[in-house]
Amino acid sequence: MAFGALFRRLRQQTDLQTGYRDIPILEDETLRWRRADGTPSRTAVTGVAAEHVLGPFARNIIGAKRAGTRIQSLLADELEGDSAASPTNRYSALFSD
Ligand SMILES: Cc1cc2nc3c(=O)[nH]c(=O)nc-3n(C[C@H](O)[C@H](O)[C@H](O)COP(=O)(O)OP(=O)(O)OC[C@H]3O[C@@H](n4cnc5c(N)ncnc54)[C@H](O)[C@@H]3O)c2cc1C
Repeated sequence: MAFGALFRRLRQQTDLQTGYRDIPILEDETLRWRRADGTPSRTAVTGVAAEHVLGPFARNIIGAKRAGTRIQSLLADELEGDSAASPTNRYSALFSD
């Protein structure tokens, strides 16, 4: 699996970390792309870019749903802190004043 020109350029021109054949190195729980120093950046990925975390379904609707769940949890936590991670209250911060 090769990721092509985009990921190659990102590897060369940013501090985002890539592995074998330019695969993005991700934080498994949030799909955030790790920097060269290992810390997670603010860039989260899905689809083929997250295939080594999500597995063979990454390119289809099941994979998109799995990725969406992880990224949504990350956004909710950032918006509201850990209390937003409650399944009953995940979107409230998006609609508050
Ligand atoms: C021909 C084909 C058949 C498929 N058949 C199946 C199947 O039978 N079963 C299955 O599980 N999966 C199938 N898939 C895969 C499935 O479509 C994808 O896995 C799924 O749609 C990914 O969902 P997503 O929300 O991540 O991305 P997408 O569905 O691609 O949604 C991304 C959205 O973002 C929008 N967008 C992109 N860039 C921007 C921008 N800069 N600004 C604003 N909006 C933007 C796009 O217009 C699009 O609406 C198929 C894919 C293709 C191409």
